Amino acid sequence: MQRTYKFRLYPNTEQWKKLDDTLSTCRWTYNKMIEFLKKNKEKFQTRNDLNYFLTELKESESWLYSCHSKMLQMISTQIDGAQKAIMQLHKNGHKTGSLKFAKYEEYRTFIYNQSGFRITQNMLYLSKIGKIKIILHRSIPENTCVKQVMVIKSKSGKWYTCITYDLDVELPKINLTKSTGIDVGIKNFAYDSDGHQTPNPLNLQKMLKPLARVQRKIARRQIGSQNRKKTMRFYRIIHERIKNRRKDFLHKISTQYAKKYNIVFVEKLQKLNMVKNHKFARNILDSSWGIFTKMLDYKCVVIEVPAKNTSVECSRCGNMVPKSPSIRIHRCNVCNLILDRDHNAAINILKKGLEIFGITNYDIMLPQELWEVTPVKIPERSMKQEEVTGRPVMVHKQIFEYKS
Ligand SMILES: [Zn+2]
Repeated sequence: MQRTYKFRLYPNTEQWKKLDDTLSTCRWTYNKMIEFLKKNKEKFQTRNDLNYFLTELKESESWLYSCHSKMLQMISTQIDGAQKAIMQLHKNGHKTGSLKFAKYEEYRTFIYNQSGFRITQNMLYLSKIGKIKIILHRSIPENTCVKQVMVIKSKSGKWYTCITYDLDVELPKINLTKSTGIDVGIKNFAYDSDGHQTPNPLNLQKMLKPLARVQRKIARRQIGSQNRKKTMRFYRIIHERIKNRRKDFLHKISTQYAKKYNIVFVEKLQKLNMVKNHKFARNILDSSWGIFTKMLDYKCVVIEVPAKNTSVECSRCGNMVPKSPSIRIHRCNVCNLILDRDHNAAINILKKGLEIFGITNYDIMLPQELWEVTPVKIPERSMKQEEVTGRPVMVHKQIFEYKS
């Protein structure tokens, strides 16, 4: 298993310039390689071909020797990976183009693989650049083999490094009684089968006003002026802030689940299809459930189950209850189960997940209190009101209604 930590770098002015120069060199080399690919379109260029081209390039451009050699080789590895990814996408029926030249703004990373770096308590030594101040807020265990150091310039101009090292851990045994199903949505970011709900923080939506303000400002500035550049930087800082808040939230919620449960079942989302509905597209993209699943995946065990009928089926009797997305309550005519629609879906996801392990007797698996709640009759009026506003009233508790 590999683990990657991200740290902030604090270069001085001289180092800052060196880092920027290295980035420029890498970008130049990258673009040269892309040019080479475009010229030799008829044949697929492998990583070896690209490396051979690099050696030739170095002969004519001797200044390239001022960069760590393996770092430049990593560019060909990156391009090779990108090419293969494009081919795979094409095979899967997606629309694909070819690799493009990288602009200054877009090219923001370079990689030291296996060699050319050394990490001490508060310094990161990079070959041909020097010792840069770093604050290790997390300790990298001694005697571990650091595989890779990636240097990143963020959009707002801060420098970061991602340090990857090998980690040998024994995978823990899974206790199936510590399992849960999670239904993700726009209104509630996550609703699990135990009835805990987490509202969607909608980070982007909250920042739309400041973003619009800055965008207006940019539009007023003259193209190419220093003031416009300054405002653009501010615009990127806001975007970075949104990204950081989103990530912080996702880390917190995924850690919470990973601590509580051994195994988490989630729906397999067809996100691209959902984004096509542009009414919700922005919120869906802002929610980033994909990153949430990825984070969960390295913190505990995540299994994706097919999404078919999870929100329609009754989680108690299996009756189909079709409903439009605006109806927030699941009501079954057959067994009279009344539940928040997301909660019902979450239980269905848990059921589907446990079926994979051959468990069909859910009552034992589900938390006891779920089946021991005393039936409560909900006044009709409050229910109607709820459907109009679409705001779930039931929090953390399940309310069942029985026919007398
Ligand atoms: Zn039912």
